[in-house]
Amino acid sequence: MTILNGSFGRIRIMVEDYPPLPPMETGIRGRCPRCGQGHLFDGFLTLKPKCEACGLDYSFADPADGPAFFVICFACVPSVLLAVWLEVTFSASFWTQLFVTGPFLLATCIPPLRPLKGWLVASQYFYKAEEGKVVRTQQQG
Ligand SMILES: [Zn+2]
Repeated sequence: MTILNGSFGRIRIMVEDYPPLPPMETGIRGRCPRCGQGHLFDGFLTLKPKCEACGLDYSFADPADGPAFFVICFACVPSVLLAVWLEVTFSASFWTQLFVTGPFLLATCIPPLRPLKGWLVASQYFYKAEEGKVVRTQQQG
C-alpha cells in the first residue's frame, strides 16, 4: 500500500498497488489472485468469501463447470486408454476393471480439480473477465 501526499499537505490519498501476478502461479497454488498471500479456498473446492490478507472480494469468481470440463476432456483420457488396454490385452473381467480402472480414474480426475478451479478464478481476475453486456448506441435522426 502506498500513501501519496496531496498538494495541500493534509490530504492523503491511499492507493493500493499490487503488481499483476500470473494466474498460473497464484491459481494453481490456491492463493489470492491479487496479493498472492491469502488463501482462495475454504475446503476442497469451496471459495472463501474474501481474501484474509488483502480483503479482495471473491464474489467476481464464477468458474462454473470449467474445471470439470477440463478434467473430462483431458484427465479422463489416461483412464480410458487403461481400460481399453486391459480389455484388449487381457480380456479383463468386470471386477478387474472396477478395482483397477476405477481407482485410477479417481486418481486422475479428482486431484486436478482444485488447481484448475484456482487457475480459472485467477485468470478471471487477471484478465478482468465478466459476463458480456449489450452496448446500445443512440440513433440520431
Ligand atoms: Zn489477497
